[in-house]
Amino acid sequence: MYFPRLYPDELLYSGIARCRVHLGISNHKTLLHMAFGDSKVAAITDLPTHLAALANNTGLDTANVIMHHTLFPLYAPFIPAKRRNDLFQAMLASDRSTIGLAGSSAALVKWPDWLRYCPVCFEEMAARFGETYWRRSWQIKGVDACPEHGCQLLNSPIPFRRAQRHEFHPASPLFLPCDSRTSPASEEAIRLAKTATQLLALEEAQSPGYGRWTNLYRYLATECGARRGRQVRAEVIWEKILESHCRN
Ligand SMILES: [Zn+2]
Repeated sequence: MYFPRLYPDELLYSGIARCRVHLGISNHKTLLHMAFGDSKVAAITDLPTHLAALANNTGLDTANVIMHHTLFPLYAPFIPAKRRNDLFQAMLASDRSTIGLAGSSAALVKWPDWLRYCPVCFEEMAARFGETYWRRSWQIKGVDACPEHGCQLLNSPIPFRRAQRHEFHPASPLFLPCDSRTSPASEEAIRLAKTATQLLALEEAQSPGYGRWTNLYRYLATECGARRGRQVRAEVIWEKILESHCRN
């Protein structure tokens, strides 16, 4: 079946939503049936499933989709190789859930409530492609700035976790507020957004494993003077975090 070419950094969720618009299909379930052969597929924004079935019907390359059009690369370097592979397989499968496999549900940083967007990117997309789309780098937990324009991301009316779980909604310039002035984000927020975007671009197929991460964290602790012998002095690190993040 027809499927639109995915744009750089576009979420697969977004491509599926555009596909429905391009084909002029108003019924969400009709599209799900065509794309997945199953009208009950959940519309998952970050770590979607049923990708083998979708590839079968559309000719998409599943490995390319997972690496470049989902949030998989954001989590993959931080989980052991076995679980990384398990997550990859769960995304291909039609009878598995990805919840819990990325390890992010235990994190204190909360999921964004809404799909977010950068108004400047929207303008550029409309001028360049004639349509807008959801970028992955706007939907990262804890990231509130556009890595390209350094402005604060805005909330769309589309929930990040779907209430109507089978509906794929396209990004739309209609979300833009009447007063579309952009607010600059803080330097720290921009740095975080840029670093997270680098993670999304990682092509690394190997997982470093917990051991190598531990070594890196120990090295960083030494660099900032938070080591005493083999011990890491957490209170020194905590002081540094408070210094750089609690300015108000
Ligand atoms: Zn932007």
